[in-house]
Parts: sequence; structure tokens; C-alpha cells
Amino acid sequence: MIVVMRSDATEADINAIQERLAEYHLKGHLSSGEERTIIGVVGASIPPTLREELEFFTGVAQTVRVSSPYKLVSREFHPQDTVVEICGNKIGGNHPCIVIAGPCSVESEEQIMATAHAVREAGATMLRGGAFKPRSSPYAFRGLGEHGLQLLAKAREETGLPIVTEVMTPTDVEMVAYYADILQIGARNMQNYQLLEEVGRTNKAVLLKRGLSGTIEEWLLSAEYIIAQGNPNVILCERGIRTFETATRNTMDLNAVALVKRRSHLPVIADPSHATGKWYLVPPLSLASLAAGADGIIIEVHPDPDRARSDGGQSLNFENFAALMPRLRAIAGVLDRGIASEGCTGCGCHRSQGTRDA
Ligand code: PEP
Ligand code: MN
Repeated sequence: MIVVMRSDATEADINAIQERLAEYHLKGHLSSGEERTIIGVVGASIPPTLREELEFFTGVAQTVRVSSPYKLVSREFHPQDTVVEICGNKIGGNHPCIVIAGPCSVESEEQIMATAHAVREAGATMLRGGAFKPRSSPYAFRGLGEHGLQLLAKAREETGLPIVTEVMTPTDVEMVAYYADILQIGARNMQNYQLLEEVGRTNKAVLLKRGLSGTIEEWLLSAEYIIAQGNPNVILCERGIRTFETATRNTMDLNAVALVKRRSHLPVIADPSHATGKWYLVPPLSLASLAAGADGIIIEVHPDPDRARSDGGQSLNFENFAALMPRLRAIAGVLDRGIASEGCTGCGCHRSQGTRDA
């Protein structure tokens, strides 16, 4: 249920509602817009008489039942776009689109430093790189672990690019959050509810990828798990879903990008690398993603894709990445957004962090 306040409602009116909700062990999430304030009500059981009861409170314009199973992520609860801020870069709303680029996996100091400098030079907004890799085969390269995170932190220190990296288990959240600017929840973990709750208890932004067979509703409910723990900084990422089609690694669902922007206030980005699985399909689908309304893209870039330890076939080399950037800027220009290419704008994140105490 949402409670829509009148434009002349006072703070005392709002507090009176919050107090009544607390008596019922319900939570009221406040969303203050320019024209009106909305209180979104969430809780395990909302008494059937509550709506009518609140209609009579001073300052209330109307109460509305929310039919979708997700609440905090819905536009009904929060009509304005959520803008997630990372090191001065604003993601969402009508802010410039972001480009997150980097290798699938951090493989060595040389590899991540070279990539960080190349993508920075071409105008990327952030650096990606996996240190904990979910691989289909237990014999495949599974990442450098904490050493990989230290290399990412070093790359950030040198280039000022904020870093995005995956966390796979609840017990690693604290460690990964120490190094990362954005915690990535991989497609295979979209429904790992303990992990979602654990990242929901941090103050780091979360990039929530859509599951391989996740419906849009399931995906938004997973975001709800994170926000319900108190962390509103969730960025959704469409990375392709499994369909009958085998010609590409996955099927990129751009419907989802446009639909989720309508149903939710959260920023949405797209990952054409995992969605297509083929490097030569990454540029056209990157452009299409921005045109469809994505707030940015995340793409894999490697110094020598043929020798990559994971996902080489879908990684752009430096030259192809540099050639893509002006085309992305052109599309983002038509959309009146542009591409954010500041890296860290001075929040100090790129200072040396040293190593974490064990
Ligand atoms: C990745 O980003 O390298 C990755 C493993 O992505 P996904 O979880 O979307 O497969
Ligand atoms: Mn990958």
C-alpha cells in the first residue's frame, strides 16, 4: 500500500502516520518528490482495515493498494528515478551514461594495469574485473581471489577508475567490500538470498545481474531483498537470458531494459558481452542498449583476447574498444545524455588503501 500525502501535509502529519505504522510493526518508506510525498508501507501482514483507517489521517490525499509483489523497487512506491552516486559519477535519472570496461578476470598485474590505462584513455567511466569467478567447470580458472582485489585497487589508484567486482559468497562480502566500489552479484547468484541480504547490509552500491533464467519479476524481487536490508543503491544489469536460440551465448533481452525502467526507479545497465558471447556483436548491442534506455553498459576488454583465461571470445581488444567509444558518445549525445568519463571526481577513493588486516 502507498499513502499519498497532500502537498500541504506537515512533518507532524507524516510522523503521525509513521507512528501508527510502527504500532502495527510495519515500515513506512518515505519518498519525497517535488510535488508530493509518498509513504510506501511494507511488512509481513498489512491489516485489511489499515487503508481505510489512514484515509482519515490529516494530510492524507489518498491510499493506494500496490498489486506488484515487489514494493521498494517499484515506481509506485518511489516515482522519481533513483540516482546511485559512485565517486562523483551519478548513475540513473537523466545523468550521463556510464561505460564499465575491463577483463572478465583479473589475471596478472600487467594485464589489469594495461587494461585500466587503455580503457581510461578511451574514456571509460569504471573498471571491471573478476577476482572470484563463477565457472561452469571446477577445473577452469576461478580467479586470483584477494590478490586480484589488491591488483584492482592498485589499478584504481593509478587511473582513478572506480572498480566493479563480483562477490560470490556471504562470507566474502566484507573483504570484497573493502576493495570494491560496486559489488557485483553474478547471474548465477541472483537468487542467493543470503548473499543478497549480506550485500544489503553494506553501504556499497550493488550491481545485480539478471539470472540466466530469471523472470523480470524474480529479478526485481531479488533487488527487493537488498533494499529491504537498508541499502537503496542497487543497479540492475541485463546480461542475456537462456532461450531456445543457440547461435549466441544468450539472448539479449532489451525488452527488459525498457520495461524495468518503467516498472522500477532503479538504474539499469546492460552487458552485451555475456548476452551475445561474441566480440563482434558487442558494439552493435552496446549501441542498442543505450538507445533502449539503459543507463550504461558493462563490457569485457582484454589486452589479448585470444589468450584470455576466461571469456576471450566475447572480449574486445583495446583497439576495438577505443573505436566503440566515439560511437557510444554519438548515441548518448542524441539522447541528450553523453558518457560519463571522469573516473573518480575527487572523493579520494583512489588513495592507496594498503592491504586489509586479516
Ligand atoms: C562476469 O561478469 O564475468 C560474469 C560471470 O557475468 P554473469 O554473472 O552475468 O555470467
Ligand atoms: Mn565474463
